[in-house]
Amino acid sequence: MPTFDYAPAPESPSIVDIQPSYGLFIGGEMVDPIDGARFKTVNPATEEVLSEVVAAGPEDVDRAVAAARAAYDGAWSRLSGRDRSKYLYRLARIVQERSRELAVLESIDNGKPIRESRDVDVPLVAAHFFYYAGWADKLDYAGFGPDPRPLGVAAQVIPWNFPLLMLAWKIAPALACGNTVVLKPAETTPLTALAFADICRQADLPPGVVNIVTGAGETGRTLVEHPGVDKVAFTGSTEVGRQIARSMAGTRKKLTLELGGKAANVVFDDAPLDQAVEGIVNGIFFNQGHVCCAGSRLLVQESVADELLARLKRRLTTLRLGDPLDKNTDIGAINSAEQLDKIRMLSKIGETEGAERWSPPCELPERGFWFPPTVFTGVSQSHRIAREEIFGPVLSVLTFRTPTEAIEKANNTPYGLSAGVWTEKGSRILWMAQRLRAGVVWANTFNRFDPTSPFGGYKESGYGREGGRHGLEAYLDV
Ligand code: NDP
Repeated sequence: MPTFDYAPAPESPSIVDIQPSYGLFIGGEMVDPIDGARFKTVNPATEEVLSEVVAAGPEDVDRAVAAARAAYDGAWSRLSGRDRSKYLYRLARIVQERSRELAVLESIDNGKPIRESRDVDVPLVAAHFFYYAGWADKLDYAGFGPDPRPLGVAAQVIPWNFPLLMLAWKIAPALACGNTVVLKPAETTPLTALAFADICRQADLPPGVVNIVTGAGETGRTLVEHPGVDKVAFTGSTEVGRQIARSMAGTRKKLTLELGGKAANVVFDDAPLDQAVEGIVNGIFFNQGHVCCAGSRLLVQESVADELLARLKRRLTTLRLGDPLDKNTDIGAINSAEQLDKIRMLSKIGETEGAERWSPPCELPERGFWFPPTVFTGVSQSHRIAREEIFGPVLSVLTFRTPTEAIEKANNTPYGLSAGVWTEKGSRILWMAQRLRAGVVWANTFNRFDPTSPFGGYKESGYGREGGRHGLEAYLDV
């Protein structure tokens, strides 16, 4: 149990100005839809309606792609890298200036704790724009030959787990390389992308360089299949990624996919256990486990399994679940009723398949979408909770005896996005890192992100890299 209670410390929502309805951001202006309908977006922590946004139709998408093309053929492609970088620096600085507003808006729209949106998401958004602003006038030296050319118009479709951060991962490198973009945020989290539209206006970005079309999956499909698009970048489920790859086949479009994961977080018997516990908590309970690279499978060496689990359970009783806007909240709301159903369904299957379910005592708010931090022990590799991406605050615990067994179990997944290793031996870290089939391997830490570091997957976790110098390649004609 917590040693003491914290007084409520809610951040005020009054800093954000959510309009009752929004249009689409096309050609530098907010415009009404031509053939799009409107739908409501809700606060997942309260189920209150926040605003009405457009589900852009084919004609709306067509108009956005035309605006991006006009901007590409017009002012944007004539700008020097130095001038493009000035715009990117400007966007970065405005994100910093408006960081409190953006963090509050993100927490209201997504359900994530303000501590995370304020200390992780929004600072990383600014860092991405700063980082790629630095590349815009140095592309000749990026290792892709002299004077590398942009691709043209990029269609970018992003998910709901890190709405503004995924926008930054997509837009910053695209613009740095001289492309223009049409971005579709996820159906349940459109508001920070619309706030970013306002930031583009504030930065005097030439009209049409960034266009934002809200909507659901159908809008995403129309956008990525649009013949006027040169490049598609998608982050989301493996299933939709597959559909997109199929529809791109045989076209001239370039494609990058960042899909699901089922990462192993491997703890050896010589690991500092208290630090490992913090890393496990950060690995699976950060952002309610709505993280593609979440450490959702804990692989612990048998000799320390009981000790580690006892410490982990003790630590989990101190996590505070509740109001995302409270600065002391560790676990916020599940993003949607649909996602909550999926987490409930897979957890139920975990029980029926014979794994042992445990959650700390935890009162769930009456309204909104909530799920307690949950640990499954006695999990075997054939269990669905060990194989499928749950995308929620649910940890599956497996054990191993030897490093070879750890590698075999860690790699026994169709995914390959990330992995973690906890040991005090540097040589073992390197031995493991060479054998783990994962795009990112963290050692004695987990879920650390940096714009200078490439991120992406193996196998069904997708292809292409985002971030770092590698992230430029996806937006250059190389
Ligand atoms: P999706 O893959 O459906 O959503 C990702 C984005 O793609 C959203 O903007 C979505 O729009 C859009 N989209 C949906 N269908 C299409 C399509 N046919 N063509 C183009 N774009 C499309 O993920 P969900 O939100 O449905 O989540 C389902 C599961 O996927 C989760 O439970 C989780 O396991 C996994 N997931 C993984 C993520 C990751 O980063 N690896 C991120 C999000 C989800 P819309 O929001 O309107 O559906």
